[in-house]
Amino acid sequence: MRKIAADFIYTLDGRIEPLAKPLLTLDDDGKILDISQYQSKDRLQDQSVDYFRGTLVPGFVNAHCHIELSHLKGAFRQATGMSGFINQINELRESVDEKGRLDAMKAEFENFSRQGVVAVSDISNCSESFAFKKDYLRLKHSAGNPLFPVYYRTFVELFGTEKADAEAILEGGQRTADQATAMGLEASVTPHSCYTMSPKLLEITAKRGLESGIISYHSQESQEEEDMIMKGSGALSDNYHSRGLSTPPVTGATALEYFIDRIAEKEGKVKGRINLVHNVVISQRSIDRAKEALQSPFFTICPLSNIFIHRQLPPIDLMRKNNLKICLGTDSLSSNLILDMVREMECLQENFPGLELGEFLVWACSNGAELLGKQDSLGSIEKGKTPGIVLLENLNGFKITKDTKSTRII
Ligand SMILES: [Zn+2]
Repeated sequence: MRKIAADFIYTLDGRIEPLAKPLLTLDDDGKILDISQYQSKDRLQDQSVDYFRGTLVPGFVNAHCHIELSHLKGAFRQATGMSGFINQINELRESVDEKGRLDAMKAEFENFSRQGVVAVSDISNCSESFAFKKDYLRLKHSAGNPLFPVYYRTFVELFGTEKADAEAILEGGQRTADQATAMGLEASVTPHSCYTMSPKLLEITAKRGLESGIISYHSQESQEEEDMIMKGSGALSDNYHSRGLSTPPVTGATALEYFIDRIAEKEGKVKGRINLVHNVVISQRSIDRAKEALQSPFFTICPLSNIFIHRQLPPIDLMRKNNLKICLGTDSLSSNLILDMVREMECLQENFPGLELGEFLVWACSNGAELLGKQDSLGSIEKGKTPGIVLLENLNGFKITKDTKSTRII
């Protein structure tokens, strides 16, 4: 058993304001046994309490990452738009040998563990990250091992523009997902996006993925994507045509409407959790369609990645006004200089100064836990849960600054 205290705590148990003078009692597995308040710091020593200067928050859930792209740190030019980004992925993905790729990934697995990420919705295109994921799932934190366990939910992401290849691509992806499952990981196939897939591959992959209860999907990341689907024109459309690849039918629908049309049920809503990632150009029209057709949509934002590629952020005000379930992700080091949940919140704080830290934490912790179906154990600091406890230091009056950092302590 262990007792810890700090200056403040965000429990996120339905309230988003900080509480002062928290005193937590936890068992040896990090399960919360009791939450109370202490009277004065002087008395904590007699009760053998570890006091931390700073603010306690639940462990973070990174709602979108491609950890296997970690070797691409610093390799990409910024502000290229979607078309330029795709050219760089095609050029650079294999630019580092296997050892280099594994070393880069290992560093990020450690980073997440230390900074307080307790769960990750992670995209894989191959099996390279699986052994690390298995290690972190079973890891035991101790005096001899300063790292903490992290749960990774793996999405084996598929793409392919030609209809004739669809079945073979799905079965290949399924084999990769089965490999992960055989190692004790939770994994399933998932569609990449509207513009990288034939309608057929998109449909059969989404259907197969939803059998697991959840899919992840890159949605409305750029105006180029929207132009390609709505009008059949623009830089992304030109890029695909210049490479002789097929593009999706032009229906006049927004990219999100096009996706929903592929997966919609004849009656009732599409069941299962759907993680719509990016949403940089999401519109009221698209939101209305998602609410009408999807039972459980989540809307993940990756602010620093969006700025890196597009110099643009999602319409946060519109998303909040519609009460969307917003989650927060880092995306990968191909489109971000650092994978750090606090830096993502710092970016939001800078760009939306009127919003409270408590709301960003809901996005970074409890909504992500719900996305991954882990809300019974993760996402908030409540009796009976094992959310992981993270210390935020150097806040400025409950605002994140460039000096703010997070450290997992439980
Ligand atoms: Zn992504």
